[in-house]
Amino acid sequence: MKKVHQLKHSGELCFIDSSGNMDRENCRVFLLLTHSCAGGLPLGILLCQSEDEQTIAQGLEQLKQVVGEKGFAGRGHEGPQLVITDDCRAERGALRKAFPKATLLLCSFHLLQAVWRWLWSKESGVTHGDRPALFAIVKEMLYCQEIGSVDRLYSEARGHPVAASYEKFLRYLDRLYARRECWALSYRGSFLTRGNNTNNFAEAAMRVLKDKILQRTKAFNLPQLFDLLTSRLETYYEARIVDVALGRWESFQRAKFLPQDGNIAASHIQQIEDKKFVVKGSTQTYDVDMDLELCSCPAGQTGAPCKHQAAVMKLQLFVTLFSTDKPRDESRADETDIGSN
Ligand SMILES: [Zn+2]
Repeated sequence: MKKVHQLKHSGELCFIDSSGNMDRENCRVFLLLTHSCAGGLPLGILLCQSEDEQTIAQGLEQLKQVVGEKGFAGRGHEGPQLVITDDCRAERGALRKAFPKATLLLCSFHLLQAVWRWLWSKESGVTHGDRPALFAIVKEMLYCQEIGSVDRLYSEARGHPVAASYEKFLRYLDRLYARRECWALSYRGSFLTRGNNTNNFAEAAMRVLKDKILQRTKAFNLPQLFDLLTSRLETYYEARIVDVALGRWESFQRAKFLPQDGNIAASHIQQIEDKKFVVKGSTQTYDVDMDLELCSCPAGQTGAPCKHQAAVMKLQLFVTLFSTDKPRDESRADETDIGSN
């Protein structure tokens, strides 16, 4: 886990989630992860006997002491720039205390799930037939591309014939709207989320922990749980990273990590500087910086892989493989060539 703190992603984005029922004393286990092409990788684990804000905050303080100034890719006590969480008040309060400079975002999946549950509950007072229309309003506000559209959809909702007849829903929408910067995706354009808007990495890691490490059983006691987390869980992640390095992990081939280049012709790519390119798309041109892993298109702006970066990567690979004008250094052993290709 200490090694994961050396990855640059660990200073950019962190996911946090908790679960229980893993030992007889029913401790809460909080997992902190960052993302990588090998999926979520753990940055730290908190074992708490309570899940109140004070306890979590103290756990995070201790984690900061353990990782020191080199933690979170050299950001040390400042922690990561962004944290994606579920809508848990104690957890978010503790994160604000421990990492006051970090921006806390809400997992879009959990937010929609909470809205769905509220609408489908008796407490909301919304009739069955009207629920989908009201849900669609929030969903559209979450996924729309521009900040202005969130405001427009909000004012439209107040005049919406169905929504206007439910005073409770309008109050619920007011409370959501007040926190729009945490959940509306249009507000994330300037953040390096690298295409991550959900807490799915943390969810998946919990499943690994419960299925593969604990084999769906409970640890006998807290020391045993601690031992399993620091021995078997670490070994599991080490093995996974080795699999990715050796090309054995099939999930690495998923489109999420390797977007298609959309048949962008090489003639549409212009190199400006060593790592900077201009890529002509179907409607407009985009600036690509391969060093920063950024592109000016909506997906690439958050640092997520996009077809323009994929096209540049393909072109670079092609140039490397078939370039003949580079003088070949005969003194170097053959294996270095394999590595660089
Ligand atoms: Zn792009």
